[in-house]
Amino acid sequence: MAGNDKLECLKELQKALKVKFDLEKQVEMMPVNLKKEEASLKEANEKYLELTERFNTVTEEVKSLSIRYEDAFQTRTTYEKQMEFLNTQREYEALSKQLDEAKVQEQSLLKQRNSKSQELERLRGELDEQEKVCDEAKARVDEERAKVESSLDDVNRQLDEMNVKCEEIREGVIPDELYAKFANIVHKKNGEGIVPVHGQVCTGCDRVLPMQFVIDLRLKQEANEIEYCPYCSRIIWYEKLDDELEKNYIFEQLEPTKGEGKASQDEGSKGDSDSYDESMGEGFEDF
Ligand SMILES: [Zn+2]
Repeated sequence: MAGNDKLECLKELQKALKVKFDLEKQVEMMPVNLKKEEASLKEANEKYLELTERFNTVTEEVKSLSIRYEDAFQTRTTYEKQMEFLNTQREYEALSKQLDEAKVQEQSLLKQRNSKSQELERLRGELDEQEKVCDEAKARVDEERAKVESSLDDVNRQLDEMNVKCEEIREGVIPDELYAKFANIVHKKNGEGIVPVHGQVCTGCDRVLPMQFVIDLRLKQEANEIEYCPYCSRIIWYEKLDDELEKNYIFEQLEPTKGEGKASQDEGSKGDSDSYDESMGEGFEDF
């Protein structure tokens, strides 16, 4: 039973490492969200500024058109008054023409002014809306910043605790090099760094291992050694299943002769393992 010390320790370690990596991810993600909110606030403010500039431009245009319209109005009414004091037909015709032109000009300016005024009103509405968008974005930035500040301390404290816990678990059992390697696997394999082998199948990657490899794995396991899945690189351990169930995970018969292979399976694994040591080399070269 002492032979399984390392495996049991690694399984415990895996749980702690999972928590630790989740916490590290949280630390990583916190500023990410804050940056995202800050970026959207910047964008909202820029749009507000653009709208303000457009609003100011259109305000000036409305002012200018109003003045020009007032002038045109004055010109037209002046011509109309002058019409009352005309003496000759020629004068009348000349002034009529000027009056018609003044009317056209007045109407055109009125139309332009009204259209610009409408645009101004629309921009005023958009500005009000955009102001709300900016306020909301600002609130989200403040909220996210407060969250980062308050929880960063908390998460970092939990992380320290997990680091201590991992050290406690592995103390005297898992050497530095194996610990570093295992932590790396757990990290890369989304929290699954050590998985059981059922029959011949690695439950980490669902691939079928050569029978000889599995026999060797069981020997190593008893000798307190560590083995890795040649396909997915996870640390693997043999988990004995119910005989009937295990049959579903056995896919190849043992080498030398079919008769022997079949017979040896019935006898149980322990006695068999010695006799297949020689074929181990070949099996390993395959992957
Ligand atoms: Zn695997």
